[in-house]
Amino acid sequence: MEKPLFPSKNMRITQGYNEGTHKDSFAIDNAGLDYGKEKVYAPFTGIIKKIYPNDANEVWLESSEPVEYPDGTIDFLTIMFAHADNVDNLFVGKTIKQGEAFYEEGTKGNATGNHIHIECGKGKFTGSGWYKNSSGYWSINNHKKPEECLWIDDTINIIHSNNYIFKKIPKKESTNIVDKKFIAKKSGLYGVYLKENQELIIKGLPQD
Ligand SMILES: [Zn+2]
Repeated sequence: MEKPLFPSKNMRITQGYNEGTHKDSFAIDNAGLDYGKEKVYAPFTGIIKKIYPNDANEVWLESSEPVEYPDGTIDFLTIMFAHADNVDNLFVGKTIKQGEAFYEEGTKGNATGNHIHIECGKGKFTGSGWYKNSSGYWSINNHKKPEECLWIDDTINIIHSNNYIFKKIPKKESTNIVDKKFIAKKSGLYGVYLKENQELIIKGLPQD
């Protein structure tokens, strides 16, 4: 199962949630190193559900399968990205693979300096994808804090996390440990004496 990864290789959050134009939302802006337009990598394998070119080229990507949230929750995840200057290569229904560079920073919409605006929504894409919040800003449906949805790993350079604590994916996932069941075909000496149909469960063997 995929763990949704923070979509930029350089984390420099320039506007956190509930600040300024992010009032009453869990939106963040990430501006990276500010050397031009940095690529945005799909946090998970997903399907593009909506593109809104009239404003900031907002793109909604819904996970194809349930993903693992940092707290262990298993659910679908939908993320809205904004400000790419060009989304000509994208269309509704397009599948994007986890880690694929599919979007980039930009200034489309009401943006100063190349950056992306990211909002996470728990579950699948719903309704029109967003709603006008009590401060008058359009906000993703079922919004959830980014650090409660996205993981980081060693490939992500953290410049400024805005004091948000993102959970790290272990460098190498530990080998899956499984319990193996040995069923005696006939009575005999197996190191331990087993009667026919007795089961011996060997705990903690590495998976083949
Ligand atoms: Zn923003």
